[in-house]
Amino acid sequence: MLAARLPSILPHLSSDEAVEVASIYSLTGLAREPDKIFSAPFRAPHHTASSVALVGGGSHPSPGEISLAHRGVLFLDELPEYGRSVLEVLREPIESGEIRISRANATLTFPAQFQLLAAMNPCPCGFSGHPKVACTDTPQQISNYRRKLSGPLLDRFDLHVEVAFQSGSVLLGKSAPAESSSAVYERVLQARKRQLDRQSKLNSELKPSELEEFCSLQPQTQSMLERAMDRLALSARGAHRVIRVARTLADLNGAEQLSTEHLGEALAYRGLDRQSGG
Ligand SMILES: [Zn+2]
Repeated sequence: MLAARLPSILPHLSSDEAVEVASIYSLTGLAREPDKIFSAPFRAPHHTASSVALVGGGSHPSPGEISLAHRGVLFLDELPEYGRSVLEVLREPIESGEIRISRANATLTFPAQFQLLAAMNPCPCGFSGHPKVACTDTPQQISNYRRKLSGPLLDRFDLHVEVAFQSGSVLLGKSAPAESSSAVYERVLQARKRQLDRQSKLNSELKPSELEEFCSLQPQTQSMLERAMDRLALSARGAHRVIRVARTLADLNGAEQLSTEHLGEALAYRGLDRQSGG
């Protein structure tokens, strides 16, 4: 439910972006619904999807789901159920924002800048950590299930969020209403504006060399990061991701300086590193 609502807090597409997205759709014979032309795309391919369906290809190469999700969201539900080889082909486009498809006489490039969102159960039966129902899996089954995701793939997720068990009344919307999507949307727009004003690009697009310039850490924050890297066995790439997330949290709060609080919150979103890193 949360995943499908993500596009409602994402900025609308500009005219150029809307044309670009509609062009990709037309290559596959799909059309965008007229009232959604300016909304960020949301694609949720099933876990039985082939790697060609996911990243594109075929004898007359056409874009796959990752290109249909360009400038929007690609949602993979039940992540460990996808074939490992299918998941591994995602690694390169996640980094480069495009996918190259080589044929004997030509190489085609399709754009693929998407936000990757995935969901998984805590264990195969789904009840680990549930307050009332006992998990029936052995520790071995649980670790086999989690091992289906490679470290390098997990490393590419900025946020690992554990969603606590919700009672039926919450799921049916009978509890007190939460903040509306339109209020969150406004906050997202302001945070993005701060980023564009400061560095002419979004935090997610900052190169490692630019992080020093635009996300400088005070000595206390720097030493907190170094301790966390040792404890979580974070790679340099992982640490850069944490800094980008911390800078984004500061932008969402309207803060000029990135503080230990922002860094601490960003580190708290690396829960799966703690599990696999020991
Ligand atoms: Zn279980």
